[in-house]
Amino acid sequence: MTNRRSVLPIAALMIGLGSILGAALLGAQARPAPPTTPRLYIFENGAIKGLDPKLFNFTRDEIKQPDFVNISYLIVHPRGTLMFDSGAIPDSEFKGDGSPVTAGIMSATKPLKPQMAAAGYKPSDITYFALSHYHSDHTANANEFAGATWIVQKAERDFMFQDKPQGIVQPAHYNALKNAKTKLLDNGDFDVFGDGAVVVKSAPGHTPGHQVVFLKLAKTGPVLLAGDLYHYPEERTTGRIPTFEFNAEQTRATRQKMEAFMKQTGAKLWIEHDMATHAGLPKAPAFVD
Ligand SMILES: [Zn+2]
Repeated sequence: MTNRRSVLPIAALMIGLGSILGAALLGAQARPAPPTTPRLYIFENGAIKGLDPKLFNFTRDEIKQPDFVNISYLIVHPRGTLMFDSGAIPDSEFKGDGSPVTAGIMSATKPLKPQMAAAGYKPSDITYFALSHYHSDHTANANEFAGATWIVQKAERDFMFQDKPQGIVQPAHYNALKNAKTKLLDNGDFDVFGDGAVVVKSAPGHTPGHQVVFLKLAKTGPVLLAGDLYHYPEERTTGRIPTFEFNAEQTRATRQKMEAFMKQTGAKLWIEHDMATHAGLPKAPAFVD
């Protein structure tokens, strides 16, 4: 015998559950379906102004644009995601009212996570995380990515987690990586998704385990995300090297190797701090593919 009176509340409960489930599914759908070819999202993490080109062995007159942009990148591949670098000023230092933040000669108007969210991603969605290197203008939000697999060179990681790392470092911004699942490389390259489309490449010199990322994009073609292999485009034409390299000889050797690699692959070089390069590229949520 059916108790008709109980049917209605159960039906109401089912509808309620249905909408909760629906909302959960919608939430899951906020992360876009994997693309069929790799995409590169470019995030704007502010600027460094008032730099003295002397630090890079140039006079002011020899440099077209002395100021830097700070950039981080999200690569979305059909098989997963790679975040490359993480900004210069941590999101936690923004007031939430849209006002710009400054830290020494660095400034930024936009935190990172809302830019990622506009593209459909949050740090916990990220499969792999890599830093070009440990300098603080690249590591600001690194702790956010400790849930990803960290791709790092052994020499770089050893420097970062020595007792008292000296230099342009903010260990508090990256300390959580110490316990991250880690893909440890020893001056080696890593084909991140196994098809040659996204390769983290060892490029030491600027720091002991500096890295660059090679991308094969369907429409744009091959690109080398240079990190700080160069800062000013003029470094590339003159062969000059910054005054503060970890190992200047190693930088020279790495640059030679990378120039040969670019010649062989036809890759374009995108210097991370170069204003002119990034002025011409779409910013997230638009993407390059
Ligand atoms: Zn830098």
